[in-house]
Amino acid sequence: MGLRDDIQRMADEFSREDNASYNLWAWLPSHAAAQKAHGDHAGNFRPAIADVMSEACEFISHRLHPTAEERSKAGELYECPCGEPHEDAAQAASGSPDEATFDAFVASMRTDIERFAKHWQQNHRLKPQEFPLSFPASDAGAWFEQFLAFVSHEQP
Ligand SMILES: [Zn+2]
Repeated sequence: MGLRDDIQRMADEFSREDNASYNLWAWLPSHAAAQKAHGDHAGNFRPAIADVMSEACEFISHRLHPTAEERSKAGELYECPCGEPHEDAAQAASGSPDEATFDAFVASMRTDIERFAKHWQQNHRLKPQEFPLSFPASDAGAWFEQFLAFVSHEQP
């Protein structure tokens, strides 16, 4: 087994770890925060593998549903990993917390629907029966119900 093979093996191993860490991160609160702040570019702010693992431990210890107190104790671990402070995206778009603007509404709906799509796709992979990719045409309203259910008991 030459050096070249060793290097190739290590590279393969790193790339597997990298993919696994990306998949794991997709379930974590800091990913949701990054998506909220950066939309499709969230992937650019992926934390280091060790940070993803630490956050996953914390999140599991919080039973996947951190309380407000646990969330604030987790601090930076659950925040967007880009390092910039973020106002709530909707609030940032509105400029003033007292005004609800058209732009803020559209931005927040867009974020919600994207997060719902991701949530549904991830769950479909694990539980295809409970999270189907179609409902009978007579029950098309089910999509809207699912979406509303998702945004009202928001996963972190
Ligand atoms: Zn950010």
